[in-house]
Amino acid sequence: MSQYTEEVLPYAVRLRLWGGPQGPPNARQMAILRATLDVIPLEHLCLLRLIEARRAGQAPAHGGGHDPAGGVIRLSAESFGKPYNQTLNQTLLHEMGHIVDAGLGGGHYVCTQQIQQMRAQGDADAAALLNTLHRGATPGAIERTADAYLAFVMLRIARAPFVHGAQPGAYVGSEAERRFRVLLETRAGAGLRRRLGLTDDFAATIRDLAHRP
Ligand SMILES: [Zn+2]
Repeated sequence: MSQYTEEVLPYAVRLRLWGGPQGPPNARQMAILRATLDVIPLEHLCLLRLIEARRAGQAPAHGGGHDPAGGVIRLSAESFGKPYNQTLNQTLLHEMGHIVDAGLGGGHYVCTQQIQQMRAQGDADAAALLNTLHRGATPGAIERTADAYLAFVMLRIARAPFVHGAQPGAYVGSEAERRFRVLLETRAGAGLRRRLGLTDDFAATIRDLAHRP
């Protein structure tokens, strides 16, 4: 029983509206979704095919969900009204972190695997990233990677306010820099650097980022 309508967002991302054109999302929340796509690196958007805007009563009940192989993000009806989704949609950006993590690895969470390897080799910043608290329902290392992606897109690409819900100090000042250094060393890093107009020279990127307020 098909009870949704679909439209095509910029970058050929399909949006499936289970609540129909009346929402959720409402017109303002739709505008926020479009603005959020604008700050995601193009080469990452290529990994995203479909966003499902679920209606009340459909899973997930809270937050969002994703399909690692298919490039699908599901946004709960509740998520659209959350205070942290009123400038850009942070739930979408967190789920996008999962899509990039898995999509760049053909369905395996390759960026998280890289961070875990770095930690195993004694990288304290990788350990700090993986030990960051997470507020959502799902435990595990991939949540930390998705939160780091969300924080980087908010703070460094969108230049928008961002406070990490479970550990507010994790993405402030030098604590943010050490986690971003690790994220940029993963396979996701190239797209993030190019979205900022930075060179592929990793050391230069770190110097440049450190001098930005
Ligand atoms: Zn997640």
